Amino acid sequence: MLRATVTVDEKTAEARRGALKPAEPVSVASPRRWTAPDGVGFVELLDTFGDDLTVVNAARVSFAKESAEMCERDGKLIKYLADHHHVTPFFHPQARFRIKMPIFVAREWYRHQIGFARNEVSRRYVDSRPECWTPANEDLRARDPRAKQGSRPDPIAEAAWSQARIEKFQREAVAFYEELLGVGVAPEIARCVLPQSMYTEFIETGSLAAYARLCGLRLGPDAQREIQAYAGAVSELMEGAFPVSWQALSPSKGSD
Ligand SMILES: Cc1cc2nc3c(=O)[nH]c(=O)nc-3n(C[C@H](O)[C@H](O)[C@H](O)COP(=O)(O)OP(=O)(O)OC[C@H]3O[C@@H](n4cnc5c(N)ncnc54)[C@H](O)[C@@H]3O)c2cc1C
Repeated sequence: MLRATVTVDEKTAEARRGALKPAEPVSVASPRRWTAPDGVGFVELLDTFGDDLTVVNAARVSFAKESAEMCERDGKLIKYLADHHHVTPFFHPQARFRIKMPIFVAREWYRHQIGFARNEVSRRYVDSRPECWTPANEDLRARDPRAKQGSRPDPIAEAAWSQARIEKFQREAVAFYEELLGVGVAPEIARCVLPQSMYTEFIETGSLAAYARLCGLRLGPDAQREIQAYAGAVSELMEGAFPVSWQALSPSKGSD
């Protein structure tokens, strides 16, 4: 199962408990990273632009006012803005991530478009050996006959057999891809034999509001468990960078 376990330092934890302190800046030199249990997928926070004060000052410009440091009043303003869907001040802070996830998860992730910019590795040009996400036995969940989408929490009885077959299938698909490259087929065509479980990697920049919306939807109980893990990792990293705003937007309720 893909579960988010982001390590947070003491300062972030303190901010999370509600202290109105600016978060530690994140830079390319000190990225914060969550790695998926298979050791291949990851979410890495590369950089942030702005902080909780950016939200406050975007809102306060209406009254030609500015805060130099976060205070309790500013925290209340952020909560008021979030509670009353005054969303534009949350468009100003931005975060940039490098993310590696299976294509079937990325297909869902990319549906969130407003407020995001993305650039992705291209298999037209790159022909390195593809990596695939292989479900663990417990990930081979049974179909839920009552739900239009989704699965039951428990795995099927034949999970071990299915897992072994999936692994074999993936190995053969990758070997076939490499055979096609070997006889001169261009990478952009040879990739057609690769499975949806193949990992892809992209850089994504989005606003605080956009990430709150994405996490709100993808942390919901009806979201697929595999995307929930990635949304959970992003959520923890965003909470570390924008503690007051993230708490106020509370993505588990959704946002717009
Ligand atoms: C649990 C779950 C199941 C899903 N199942 C399916 C499925 O079966 N099939 C499927 O196709 N999709 C499915 N989706 C994807 C879903 O339909 C959305 O595309 C996705 O959640 C992105 O939503 P978003 O509001 O973040 O989109 P964004 O495109 O990022 O838009 C953000 C917001 O901008 C506004 N906006 C965007 N475009 C317009 C527009 N043209 N006009 C007016 N306002 C606009 C809306 O307020 C919108 O909410 C599912 C999503 C979830 C969370």
